[in-house]
Amino acid sequence: MSGQINAFEMAQKQFDGVAKQLKLDDGVAEVLRWPMREFSFRIPVRLDDGSLKVFQGFRVQHNDARGPNKGGIRFAANETMDTVRALATWMTWKCAVADIPLGGGKGGIIVDPSTLTVNEKEEMCRGWVRAMWKNIGPRNDVPAPDIGTTPQMMGWMMDEYSRLVGQYTPGVFTGKPLGGGGSLGRTEATGYGVIYTVREAMKHLNIDGKNSVAAIQGFGNVSQYASVGFVELLGGTVACVSCWDRHDKKAYTYSKKGGIDPRFLLTIVDEYGTIDKAKAQDAGYTVEDGDAWITKEANVLIPAAMEGQVTADTVSKMSKNIKIVAEGANGPCTPEADEYFKKNNIFNIPDFLCNAGGVTTSYFEQVQNDMNFYWSKDEVLGRLDEKMTSAFNSVVDRSEKEKVYMRDAAYMVAIDRVVKAMDLRGWLTGNA
Ligand code: NAD
Repeated sequence: MSGQINAFEMAQKQFDGVAKQLKLDDGVAEVLRWPMREFSFRIPVRLDDGSLKVFQGFRVQHNDARGPNKGGIRFAANETMDTVRALATWMTWKCAVADIPLGGGKGGIIVDPSTLTVNEKEEMCRGWVRAMWKNIGPRNDVPAPDIGTTPQMMGWMMDEYSRLVGQYTPGVFTGKPLGGGGSLGRTEATGYGVIYTVREAMKHLNIDGKNSVAAIQGFGNVSQYASVGFVELLGGTVACVSCWDRHDKKAYTYSKKGGIDPRFLLTIVDEYGTIDKAKAQDAGYTVEDGDAWITKEANVLIPAAMEGQVTADTVSKMSKNIKIVAEGANGPCTPEADEYFKKNNIFNIPDFLCNAGGVTTSYFEQVQNDMNFYWSKDEVLGRLDEKMTSAFNSVVDRSEKEKVYMRDAAYMVAIDRVVKAMDLRGWLTGNA
């Protein structure tokens, strides 16, 4: 990724453009340009070698007008407050566009989780909760897993919170393991959600899924199930996936003649999304440099690894046949890439619409926790499909009505809903 891109500046730039188009009052825009609350704290962790190490933790609550803040916790070596702010802001828009009654939050710790033992990870998770427990909860802020965090970690965090408040409170974290308060379908949710929106975009553009080819970046949670879904739900072919190899400390692209087999690759990928290179080569996969994914012949591009990947530099290397860019990751395309898409009539499914399947299913998990009644996987995925389809349609309708780009239309739908909630709660009249 390009080190110069500041994700929060990008989030504000996108918001400012739409606020102008919506003729939003300057004061209201100022409320929404910045998070309502930010937490920055230090987490001391006793490592297995007996030493005490202090880690930097964050939580940002962007806007809770529509309901409790919601958003992941990332364990990443390159985490920054600005990245967390950007991601919290996008969560507000994502929950609003998906029309789930939640606000926007995000958190993290600056750490490479692959350097930690299981015991150290648990200590880190419990430490994050001890720092934040008074400011999270099912009615004010509900974190979830994201990059570098897992269902098991959410289980530990939920346990620590439950101990501190003195009662079992499964709805405080989502993305928990099955049997530990988790929901069926959560693992597939974000990737399948990406594919539900791709399917709707194909209907809209008259593209046949069965004759379609996707080039996908990443092979973590989102990209794994986007790959599976592209093949199994749409009947299409996946030309390549890619990953960051944590052993070699570099990215690789994996492709195979006739398309990759996502189910096979799932058997040789580790929990951090690193594919076993030797096993892939033995199975006939071509392994190229990490940048090669974007150059593959395809009509659908799914950047589903991390932010800032499709840039002014890389966008020109994309196949000229790309018709749909589905943003599985958060913030994968820069404003310069957007300009290229607009100029070349490429249909963009913006991140906070495209990858809203995760948070929607997290919301379903919380609903199930509150009811203490659990749905079948088919019921979860069926409800997810309905929500994603309806969200996609509301954005396409707005895009056609206002003759605006899909990202702007998604912002318009989301901002209108958040402003309406703030207004209905009396936040904009000066009496609140
Ligand atoms: P993950 O950690 O499970 O997987 C990330 C994948 O990207 C891994 O395969 C990793 O090796 C790969 N990767 C990292 N750097 C790379 C590089 N430079 N080149 C190629 N591959 C690289 O993460 P995830 O949960 O799949 O999340 C991916 C993106 O989707 C993130 O932007 C995240 O914020 C967003 N997202 C995730 C969810 C979710 O439910 N997991 C929901 C919404 C959005």
